[in-house]
Amino acid sequence: MSTGKKEAKKPAAAPAAEPKKRPAKALEPVQPPDALEAMLAQALSSRGAAVPAADTPPVGEQRCGLIAIVGKPNVGKSTLLNALVGQKISITSRKAQTTRHRITGMRTVKATQFVFVDTPGFQTRHGNALNRSLNRTVVGAVNDVDLIVFVVEAGQFNQADAKVLALLPEKTPAILLANKFDLIHRRAEIAPWLREMQERHNFAEFVPMSANNARDIERLFGICEKYLPVQPWMYGADELTDRSDRFMAAEIIREKLFRLTGDELPYTSTVVIDQYEEEGTLRKIAATIIVERDGHKGMIIGEKGEKLKRIGTEARHELETLTGGKVFLEIWVKVRSGWADDEARVKTFGYE
Ligand code: GDP
Ligand code: MG
Repeated sequence: MSTGKKEAKKPAAAPAAEPKKRPAKALEPVQPPDALEAMLAQALSSRGAAVPAADTPPVGEQRCGLIAIVGKPNVGKSTLLNALVGQKISITSRKAQTTRHRITGMRTVKATQFVFVDTPGFQTRHGNALNRSLNRTVVGAVNDVDLIVFVVEAGQFNQADAKVLALLPEKTPAILLANKFDLIHRRAEIAPWLREMQERHNFAEFVPMSANNARDIERLFGICEKYLPVQPWMYGADELTDRSDRFMAAEIIREKLFRLTGDELPYTSTVVIDQYEEEGTLRKIAATIIVERDGHKGMIIGEKGEKLKRIGTEARHELETLTGGKVFLEIWVKVRSGWADDEARVKTFGYE
């Protein structure tokens, strides 16, 4: 199977007379603590729509909309997107700068097509060309969507969260998704935090959950659905992502690279695909890992080439699962000093 890429069908323009319906705000700005407790209990217990396979309903009954998933690095945005789509389309790792591109994933549930946009976390640590490009991607994603899912770690909020929150337009409804709720052991701690969060932004809803909990994910579909306008679907019912297999190959190699090298390898390494050939079910792929320094090259290759071999083997296995065929994978390592500081190079390596 493939990642499901097809030409996106552009939706016919929605009738101008039909305004997008905005549901009533679910949160009042200030609430007494016991009301917060009750709300928390309700938020945790409400059940969303089940997720049966989609049968194409008549166009007039179709709902479709864009949902941006935003938040600082490492809060679980990519984990969430993969769970929502039901297949891994966005790579994840413990390292903060893993997602670099705007990745669109979709899921069609009954009459509603959810089009999710995963973004890189807003980068504040370095002002180089790579990070400027990542930040443009975030700003581009939050405008022009029907709903924003602002992801934070439950009970936490710092300057990096604040920088992302400041980018959210007032006009677009935003859900506060308090992720990693499994790590919160005392619920009472959440009430004062939640009150603070309500004062920071006019959130439409509050969703405490864990991106790796299937029931929470199912519930989230039901929560998001009412914010999406009635309009024709943009993609086929079975499509999962707008990214090509070639792009997925580079991302999978980059994930293995990030996961198998220690923190000493700077996040500025990247992967380009030099060759991607399909012969029946066989894929012939040649890729280059680009690093900034000679020393980094050694870290990737490892003793007697062990490390690079492992990166290649793990990437190949995952690519074979993804494509459902055999994969020949060849990986090279090259040094291009200063690429992440160079606007032109950042562009040639596929960043917007
Ligand atoms: P992103 O940078 O926001 O895209 O974050 P990732 O999706 O890459 O996740 C960062 C880390 O948080 C990974 O190690 C995930 O496994 C972990 N993570 C994501 N969601 C949850 C959750 O609900 N609970 C816990 N305990 N860990 C999570
Ligand atoms: Mg990510």
